[in-house]
Amino acid sequence: MAVYDVVIIGGGPGGYSAAIRARQLGLKTALVEAADLGGVCLNWGCIPTKALLKQAEVYQLLLRADEFGLKVGEPEVDWTAVIGRSRQVAERLSKGVAYLMKKNEVEVFTGRGRLTPSRNVAVADGKGTVVAELEAANVVLATGSRPKSIPGVEFDGEKILSSREAMIAEKRPNSLAIIGAGAIGVEFAYFYRAYGSEVLLLEALPQVLPREDEEIAAGLAASLVRQGIEVATGARVVEVKKQKRQIALRYQVDGEEQSRKVDRVLVATGVQGNIEGLGLEVAGVHVRNGAIEVNGRMETNAKGVYAIGDVAGAPQLAHAAVQEGIAAVEFAAGRQRPELDRRQVPSCTYCQPQVASVGLSEKEAREAGYDVKVGRFPFAASGKGQAIGETEGLVKLVFDAQYGELLGGAILGAEATELVAELGLALRLEATYEELLFTVHAHPTLSEAIMEAAGEAFGEAINL
Ligand code: NAD
Repeated sequence: MAVYDVVIIGGGPGGYSAAIRARQLGLKTALVEAADLGGVCLNWGCIPTKALLKQAEVYQLLLRADEFGLKVGEPEVDWTAVIGRSRQVAERLSKGVAYLMKKNEVEVFTGRGRLTPSRNVAVADGKGTVVAELEAANVVLATGSRPKSIPGVEFDGEKILSSREAMIAEKRPNSLAIIGAGAIGVEFAYFYRAYGSEVLLLEALPQVLPREDEEIAAGLAASLVRQGIEVATGARVVEVKKQKRQIALRYQVDGEEQSRKVDRVLVATGVQGNIEGLGLEVAGVHVRNGAIEVNGRMETNAKGVYAIGDVAGAPQLAHAAVQEGIAAVEFAAGRQRPELDRRQVPSCTYCQPQVASVGLSEKEAREAGYDVKVGRFPFAASGKGQAIGETEGLVKLVFDAQYGELLGGAILGAEATELVAELGLALRLEATYEELLFTVHAHPTLSEAIMEAAGEAFGEAINL
């Protein structure tokens, strides 16, 4: 039997990054993957959707060409090419992961991995036949997640879609209802609306992107409405009934029932961890609320078994999975390192305007008992924002009033998902508003809005 220091089950961003880090630490490493390297993120999630969203953004920019003094006529959309480019990007990156595995001498096994009673890892092919058994000092479970639906609404891949089918639709639906206004719901609402579909976005909770700051979410909702998306929050889906060609939808808002017929329904109500068939019972690994239970070192209760990424529960984000995977193998190798601080994991939504945040929202900071100072800076007051025609949104920063330490920040606007990195570093370094102010930000850049928002919190903004 082949013997390894680490066997990783699942080759998504968390799993493959852990494999590379394990090799850097000199560990003999195997990676078991049943489908494509790169997992959902590279093949069916983050990457192909970001390609689609960029394309929608370019299309929208072309429609605004007049504003920039350009006459481009009526731009035409080649839908097959729109979807095709996104698939090409995903394929290229998946091949890139295969190259990285080779370069780093990670042994890749194709098949489904599961823990055996003797705490080895059995690899089975598509028919369930065991094709390899690997002995492992440490096992990292990194099997990710899959879309979950709501009671009474089953995915059928044709009319009732998950994000996976929504990103490869052969034809653009004329009308689309989206259930759930988390990151997936909002991103697809923007994408399909950008190309002209009628979009109804239904969210059960009182705001879109319920985990984001209220003010930022309200700003986003107003923008989505301006774009022509119908947004219904506090919405309860009563019935989703397939008809011959369309889908009849009944839902309630504020106790009032509404109905609508649409071509497609996208269910984006969250994901569930892939915990099945992993041999968790035989290995005695504890599961709680559908997620493998781990401590701050990503250890499960079973000795030498780690779990990372979506299968280990919130925040279920690729960048968190990467850090968790790296942390798991570093701990397995006996290295001293800090545990991952989940409050410092940024959250990003790539619609336009984008939303990104890190740390505490204003409400969370107040609830945590801080005396807070809040600073805001709108992109309409930013020279760069005006120059590039991106004036929507704002930077909102939350500080502890006593010491001026940054507690969190949220951004609505162009390139928010890039800008948030500065706030992540500032949080990590426990920076104060003064340190943000003393950092020279290049002019003109959108990032100046962060410096200005820090100033605004303490009465020192210049351009307001
Ligand atoms: P999510 O949990 O972020 O959002 C699901 C939304 O559906 C929530 O707002 C919830 O209140 C709502 N909801 C649940 N049941 C409902 C119902 N019956 N009717 C109406 N609304 C209902 O999940 P998601 O958007 O499906 O994304 C799945 C995972 O993938 C999440 O962890 C998400 O963060 C991640 N993701 C991240 C990005 C990104 O970072 N840009 C993009 C896509 C997905």
